[in-house]
Amino acid sequence: MADDKKMDLTEETARRWLKERGVKIQDIADLVYFLQQQYHKNLKIEDCLENVERVILKREVQNAIITGIQLDMLAEKGMLEEPLQSIIKTDESLYGVDEVLAFSIVNVYGSIGFTNYGYIDKQKPGILRRLNDKSTGECHTFLDDIVGAIAAAASSRLAHRAAHVE
Ligand code: MG
Repeated sequence: MADDKKMDLTEETARRWLKERGVKIQDIADLVYFLQQQYHKNLKIEDCLENVERVILKREVQNAIITGIQLDMLAEKGMLEEPLQSIIKTDESLYGVDEVLAFSIVNVYGSIGFTNYGYIDKQKPGILRRLNDKSTGECHTFLDDIVGAIAAAASSRLAHRAAHVE
């Protein structure tokens, strides 16, 4: 019972924080569509949404979401200790722990997720462009990688499923 309650709180927090930080499930589904449309002739946005939902149901994904967003929020409020405060607030490029945390998400549906993640991280379409806009005063050092990773994992899941159907 206590465990069930704790699980609910983790999932609920992950979903609420994504929303509060300006990321809709639909935004992530759009990234999946961007990644997969050339490979699946009749790809529907509903299929992308369904796969994003499945990824977010995974406990390790929820844990990565709440850990990353928590650090972003604390950095935004100036509440971390130095040197971490400056590193995360300025999104220092050699830090790299934001990407390592995102890999725990990319991993959940096998290694093709890494290709998708690398590609989307370079292109920065849709919501990723906004999350990388440093002029807003918001801090999304972890969130941009998390969102890209969820899209990459959902793309992998979609690709694996399609392979089984064909
Ligand atoms: Mg980052």
